[in-house]
Amino acid sequence: MEDLAIIGSGPAGYTAGIYAARANLKPILFEGLESGGQLMLTTDVENFPGFVEGIMGPELMQTFKAQAERFGTEIKTETINTIEIIENGFKLKSSNNEYLFKSVIIASGASARWLGVEGEKELQGYGVSACATCDGFFFKEKTVAVIGGGDSAMEEALFLTKFASKVIVIHRRDQFRASQIMQDRVLNHEKIEVIWNSTVERINGDGKVTSVEINDLKNNIRNTIELDGVFVAIGHDPNVKFLDGLVELDEKGYIKTGFTTETSTSVPGVFAAGDVADSIYRQAITAAGSGCQAAIDAERWLDH
Ligand code: NAP
Repeated sequence: MEDLAIIGSGPAGYTAGIYAARANLKPILFEGLESGGQLMLTTDVENFPGFVEGIMGPELMQTFKAQAERFGTEIKTETINTIEIIENGFKLKSSNNEYLFKSVIIASGASARWLGVEGEKELQGYGVSACATCDGFFFKEKTVAVIGGGDSAMEEALFLTKFASKVIVIHRRDQFRASQIMQDRVLNHEKIEVIWNSTVERINGDGKVTSVEINDLKNNIRNTIELDGVFVAIGHDPNVKFLDGLVELDEKGYIKTGFTTETSTSVPGVFAAGDVADSIYRQAITAAGSGCQAAIDAERWLDH
């Protein structure tokens, strides 16, 4: 039985790896399907301390990974599908293997949320996307819409101006949720138009997106906007499905922590860090901070 498993390879997982490896716990980190987490889908990270001029998301994650490996974190490119409580520990199963651990840090992050309207699923990859960094390139000199009013939506819209001839931000209220600096950049950008108080009701297309139908909530009228792409940026959901009720969740579905120590969960020996347990801050730096806390909590718990 090994001491510590870390599930997830975003800022929380890798930071937990750095601290746990330096504490000689010989952690094994399971990368999962989306190695590197959400920062792999980002361009410039301007608010991570230590990088005066900013750094690209994937490059930042590469440095996290290299630092975790330097101290001996073993990284496995496997996805853990189930965790079972056994005597004095936990059995983790991936598609091909089983592992036994005394403790586990869950740092499985969060994934993009979808609108759930007609046409969205059918046209994913054919003009519907949740990642401008991945797909923006395909919309050179085209018209695209970004749905949402948070920092993600602002970031996606600004990024898309590098390719698209026009970016339309569609938001359901008359005010953005995003930070002031991001709002100002969007509102002052000549390529960006904002449609307020409107929801997307349907995405049209046959093989590729051709238009969206929106509902103007103030005047209660439906409009059709012709465009080539729709980027959904309406937030994220924590990746907890594989836990299948193992630990208690809060009312929003995030892992509940703070039972005995800051990152402890309802199950002794299981700790949670990063976006999977944080519906409030959700920053790379806060995720990294909680990854550090989880490793220290796990180390002390293993010592008890
Ligand atoms: P968010 O802040 O939760 O914003 C989600 C946005 O989508 C909100 O404007 C929300 O509208 C809208 N929305 C949610 N469900 C919707 C639906 N079904 N239909 C239409 N609109 C819907 O999520 P986020 O933008 O992904 O940001 C998450 C966190 O990451 C935040 O803390 C943010 O500050 C941070 N972040 C930071 C940066 C940065 O600093 N550069 C970049 C990205 C993200 P309402 O406003 O009406 O609720």
